[in-house]
Amino acid sequence: MDYRVIIVGCGPAGIFTALTLAEHDVDRVILFDQGNELEKRSRHDAKDVLCGWGGAGAYSDGKLNISTEVGGYLLDFLDKNDLINILKSTDEIFVKYGAPDRIFGDLTTSVEEIADQASLAGLEFIPTVIRHIGTENCQRVLRHMRKALDGKVEVKTCCQVKSLIEEGGQIKGVKLADGQIVNSNYVIAAPGRVGASWMKDEAESLGLTTKSSPVDIGVRVELPATILKKITDVTYEPKLIFYSKTFDDKVRTFCMNPYGEVVTEENDGIITVNGHSYAKRKSNNSNFAILVSSTFTEPFRDPIAYGRYIARLANLLGGGAIIQRLGDLLAGRRSTGDRIDHCLTRPTLMKATPGDLSFVFPYRHLQSIIEMLQALDRLAPGVYSRHTLLYGVEVKFYSNRIEVSQEMETKVKNLFAIGDGAGITRGLLQASASGVIAARAIASRIKGEQKSAKRVGKAGSQGMVRKPAQ
Ligand SMILES: Cc1cc2nc3c(=O)[nH]c(=O)nc-3n(C[C@H](O)[C@H](O)[C@H](O)COP(=O)(O)OP(=O)(O)OC[C@H]3O[C@@H](n4cnc5c(N)ncnc54)[C@H](O)[C@@H]3O)c2cc1C
Repeated sequence: MDYRVIIVGCGPAGIFTALTLAEHDVDRVILFDQGNELEKRSRHDAKDVLCGWGGAGAYSDGKLNISTEVGGYLLDFLDKNDLINILKSTDEIFVKYGAPDRIFGDLTTSVEEIADQASLAGLEFIPTVIRHIGTENCQRVLRHMRKALDGKVEVKTCCQVKSLIEEGGQIKGVKLADGQIVNSNYVIAAPGRVGASWMKDEAESLGLTTKSSPVDIGVRVELPATILKKITDVTYEPKLIFYSKTFDDKVRTFCMNPYGEVVTEENDGIITVNGHSYAKRKSNNSNFAILVSSTFTEPFRDPIAYGRYIARLANLLGGGAIIQRLGDLLAGRRSTGDRIDHCLTRPTLMKATPGDLSFVFPYRHLQSIIEMLQALDRLAPGVYSRHTLLYGVEVKFYSNRIEVSQEMETKVKNLFAIGDGAGITRGLLQASASGVIAARAIASRIKGEQKSAKRVGKAGSQGMVRKPAQ
């Protein structure tokens, strides 16, 4: 099998690479994914949740952050205006395939008022503009994208790429799990977080330079939606940053889901919590994460192992996710089934085990989370209530960051690394945009190659081939 371009991973990064290559009429493109076609995926199967057509985006909340500061590091590669343009055009592609029109968070007087109130509470407010697709609409958008690629790009699901093949500093193709070799001029690796350890191993064997990223550890907070209504009606997803008083650690809110639900996810046998919200189905609660960022230097340089260790401890104590009322945590006692029953906030995740998060988190993290909740209470009274529910643990592992050029090319010629798996992005829009960037670079190189091949052909046919020097 010979192809011009191979894409590893059918998540947003891989899909947007394919859509852009198709738009530039690049032929002989194939996408491989170890997971299944969208209609064969089930959100109740841990493997399916992250793998297959749509990648982790398929069951995501579908919040597109149209912001240069959030969702990835593309600003390290592009000029701010260029990045804004790419993010906007990538967002337009989502709309073209069915994402709703509505945008939240335009810089209005109300947003500025929230920013002022946040600063009085000791919080930094990062304004973001968000389009909310909603979990159920994500499926529709992804189906439309799949259809648009019919006849233009080959898609092979349930097909794992085992390794990347390089020769003399240039990519030559990939080896599949069944041993088959597929040759190509270009390879784009877009394996997502689920393929991060595969990417790390491949980077090591190809001698690519990587940098370790911080690990973000914390809780998912759930409370009655009315408490945050004033803020979420205006900004949808307030990004708030706080530096903890005791440790001066960076603490932030993440992934706000107004009227949403708390969920668990499983990655490599570890159960962690997350949250999402539907465009139509509404609960009475809002949820968001409070995450504490930790970076390690010497001699320990494995933040992922640290995060997994804490998550595993929660799983050991709770058999999965743990739920605790803030009131119980502050009173130094575990939550029990009875205490959760008395809680005015009704949990949306019923299968979490009532327990004690103080057995799970290091003092440093717990203290920072409590101080952040106190600061948030000054912005939105009611957050620091004893009826606020905390679920643990939420961990955000970020892949080791692979060194790439502005075009997302690694130091192996024609091998590009994009999306969350390459540690370059952390969200849907920037992951998709990284695919657009790589695909545009490849399309322009292919056009250049075709032009020069034509010139050589013409020169040859007219007897104009230059004579070797005497
Ligand atoms: C529950 C949840 C909610 C989220 N909500 C949001 C949100 O609201 N907004 C937001 O911006 N982001 C959200 N995210 C994050 C977002 O989904 C990711 O940032 C995005 O999907 C990353 O895209 P990607 O293409 O880089 O990787 P992924 O989407 O992870 O796709 C990678 C694909 O590569 C495949 N793959 C990996 N290795 C191989 C291999 N060796 N061979 C073949 N295939 C392979 C995988 O099977 C997978 O399908 C959410 C994530 C989760 C889990």
